[in-house]
Amino acid sequence: QLHMLQNEKMASIGQLAAGVAHEINNPIGFVSSNLTTLNKYLSRMNEFIDLQEEKLSDVAPEHLEELELKRKTLKIDRIRKDAEQLIKESLEGTERVRDIVTDLKTFSRADAKEYLFADINECLDRTINIVWNEIKYKATVKKEFGVLPKVKCNLQQLNQVFLNLLVNAAQAIDTQGEITVATSHNGDQISVSIADTGVGIPEEIRHRIFEPFFTTKEVGKGTGLGLSISYDLIKKHNGGITLESELGRGTRFTITLPVLGKDHHGEEEGVQRETLTH
Ligand code: ADP
Ligand code: MG
Repeated sequence: QLHMLQNEKMASIGQLAAGVAHEINNPIGFVSSNLTTLNKYLSRMNEFIDLQEEKLSDVAPEHLEELELKRKTLKIDRIRKDAEQLIKESLEGTERVRDIVTDLKTFSRADAKEYLFADINECLDRTINIVWNEIKYKATVKKEFGVLPKVKCNLQQLNQVFLNLLVNAAQAIDTQGEITVATSHNGDQISVSIADTGVGIPEEIRHRIFEPFFTTKEVGKGTGLGLSISYDLIKKHNGGITLESELGRGTRFTITLPVLGKDHHGEEEGVQRETLTH
């Protein structure tokens, strides 16, 4: 039951992506530009205050009038600091919304319907190339590709999943590490694992990482959408996604996919029917 709820929550992201992404980006654009202008005004005010303070430093303290001016100046100074903080927070907020919109856009683009037989090793190669510039400073990538049959899948969607997992793996590595991408074939399934030598995932947050918007990363680094989108896309393929993780050692995500695609339940149904007749 819990699982159903989780699935519904994730499916709703797809609908959100199609309709709302564009609507959000416009207002965010002008809020962001207004804040930038306000920030410039504040800088000019700053210059003015600096000038006033210079003048005041030359005035003897017994001149009451000047003291009053100084008091006011200091008050303005405090307001200025508050305003700067407010603007900074607002700009971070708009940045975060921008990141979310970008993630949602990629997701809605990946929402196409075609399922075709594709070479998953090739797909992984391409995805690794795409993220290479982003991860090369952090990690060496080791490929352990097995011989795979072609898999009936939506390549754009799988690309998206692999990309999310690779970026997460790289971001989990502090300074220098290794990412191992392995594939294998077993009966009517193939599996893809992406392992990193990163920080690992603490036990107490493991049940939350597939939730939409759950992130432990700072603004500009993460939206918390990557894994929930990936989960949704793998479910659409009738596949599975699991993880093993050890704190300080690293994390391995493993994806399994049915070779014959989402509409093929032959093997599993066969097993069930057999069990029932016994
Ligand atoms: P985001 O990357 O935007 O934070 P994700 O949905 O991709 O969102 O991941 C959610 C959270 O799961 C991350 O913030 C991080 O805490 C954790 N996580 C995901 N992948 C890894 C990994 N390979 N190693 C360590 N933590 C990870
Ligand atoms: Mg991510």
